[in-house]
Amino acid sequence: MQLDTDTIAAIATPKGKGGVGIIRLSGPDALTISNKIHFTELKARYAHFCSFYQNETKNNENLLDEGLAIYFKGPHSFTGEDVVELQGHGGPVILDALLNECINAGARVAKPGEFSERAYLNDKLDLAQAEAIADLIDSSSLEAAKNAVRSLQGDFSNKIHALVKSMTDLRIYVEAAIDFPEEEIDFLNDGHVANSLQIIIDQLSKVLQSAHQGRVMQEGISIAIIGKPNAGKSSLLNALAGHDAAIVTNIEGTTRDVLKEKILIDGLPLHIIDTAGLRDTNDTVEKIGIERAFIAIEEADDVLIVRDSNNPQSLEEMLNDLIAIEGLGHGIKDKIKALEHITIINNKCDKSGLQPKIEESPQHTEITLSAKNGEGIELLRQHIKGVAGILNQTEGQFTARRRHLTALDNALNLVNEGQQQLLHSGAGELLAEDLRQAQNFLSSITGEFSSDDLLGEIFSSFCIGK
Ligand code: GDP
Repeated sequence: MQLDTDTIAAIATPKGKGGVGIIRLSGPDALTISNKIHFTELKARYAHFCSFYQNETKNNENLLDEGLAIYFKGPHSFTGEDVVELQGHGGPVILDALLNECINAGARVAKPGEFSERAYLNDKLDLAQAEAIADLIDSSSLEAAKNAVRSLQGDFSNKIHALVKSMTDLRIYVEAAIDFPEEEIDFLNDGHVANSLQIIIDQLSKVLQSAHQGRVMQEGISIAIIGKPNAGKSSLLNALAGHDAAIVTNIEGTTRDVLKEKILIDGLPLHIIDTAGLRDTNDTVEKIGIERAFIAIEEADDVLIVRDSNNPQSLEEMLNDLIAIEGLGHGIKDKIKALEHITIINNKCDKSGLQPKIEESPQHTEITLSAKNGEGIELLRQHIKGVAGILNQTEGQFTARRRHLTALDNALNLVNEGQQQLLHSGAGELLAEDLRQAQNFLSSITGEFSSDDLLGEIFSSFCIGK
């Protein structure tokens, strides 16, 4: 990817009104362009209070705003280029006018993510760190934000670099062993290769697990809540959310549509899909709700089937009733039959007199609780964290994206494959090739081995001014 050499400008603060609004300029002409607006000689890393003018003319008529101008001389700036920040007042009209002045004075409007892209191309940060900036800004919980800032500071990248280093060392050893087969010692089978390979596999698995948690903390998981009308689905959602998100009444079929609610459990985002009461109905509106519910259940990471523990109907009968619902897709029926990704909630234990508890069998989990008085809700919260694979780890986590997980997964598969090649056929050449490919997958995370298309795709998903 080529580095553009022109000067870019963008509003770096969010749309809307605020005390301060910032315009950021980056590129070789940043200082000259900004000077045409504030007519002040800027000393690097000093905040200068100055007036901002229009039409490159310093007089009262052209006075636009007043504020701070700060100059960061490259390479000691975010992008690695000369950067000037104009900090005016945070009103859309003022900021648009200021940006316009920058453009008239020779800057170009920055593309989404172009500041971060320049920082990456100037080696100020690697790709995983650049992505962490976007994740930090998009974080929906404090935990996710803390994970993102750790990635930004290089925690994730350092782990990847350490893995790449171990792989490079091993490759050198393996390739040397292949190149000098006439040596007395059988280098491939002297135990060193097998040991190093096992260490790499263990480290890679650990990083993959942490990355998985990082992704889940950023993106969250989806949970569908299903069950007969009046079983207490909406009440359960409210109990989990801690506020009245759904309308709760005791008239059957109140919840007519799929209601998506995002809540946080210890920082884990949960996309909860509260579904229309699943039952045969002639009501057109309710039918649409039920159809949407079917799709939501198919896609959910876990399905909570809520039943009234006062209802004498056995679990089996209730499941059979659910399966018998007309229009229910085979995928869901199979899920319910196999109790796969299903949690049974025995609700209203305050009325039935049952004790709140969690029972885990190899097939499924059953939780007895009361959505009304909250007893047993904590058991469900902990269970959901388990479903998401969130361990109560004290070690610092880092943020990760789906593409990072795919790369780590591919690398791990290749190294495992290489280990098999070595164990079963002593095939050093195949192991060397697997290691080479695995290393490329790892390097794609930090951007050392990435196509221009991928880079373009990543940076264009950022917002303007980033
Ligand atoms: P939905 O149709 O499955 O969404 O059920 P709702 O959440 O609307 O609840 C139906 C009725 O059951 C309401 O009157 C709730 O107050 C009541 N309810 C829900 N959960 C409980 C519970 O844990 N205990 C008791 N006693 N009543 C509950």
